[in-house]
Amino acid sequence: MRKLVPLLLTLALCATAWSQELGLSLKLDAKGKRPAKLVVEGQVSKAVWLGVSFYPYGTQNVLADGTHQVLQIPVGRFEHSFTIADRLLGGGVEAALWEKKVPSANCAGPCEWCKKNGYHLENQILYVYGSLAQSAAGGKGK
Ligand SMILES: [Zn+2]
Repeated sequence: MRKLVPLLLTLALCATAWSQELGLSLKLDAKGKRPAKLVVEGQVSKAVWLGVSFYPYGTQNVLADGTHQVLQIPVGRFEHSFTIADRLLGGGVEAALWEKKVPSANCAGPCEWCKKNGYHLENQILYVYGSLAQSAAGGKGK
């Protein structure tokens, strides 16, 4: 019996890091539903910034092609869910914890990141990435 699954999304993880004080990991909440969701969870012993970036398949310029989101994370455990736009399926995702968010006004620049986003992040603490591999089990266009 053939089960019709329009999209099977898997997350190939390169790295996940956990300690008693610090942790960061990615998981998918796909279950064949669209849009799929990426769940970023972790724990921190001091307030940090979480940066999550999605890249469509074939990205050449991470700054121009990527979708970047930043959240402030208070002390403790955290879990945030991000919707994965269809155009990002098959692409990649990065998540990192950073110590500082620097507004462009305080940036010593020249800084491409500030020019585009109005801030940059400094002092990376933890970094993970994964690829959003997809296999269409039920054909395209569904
Ligand atoms: Zn900057």
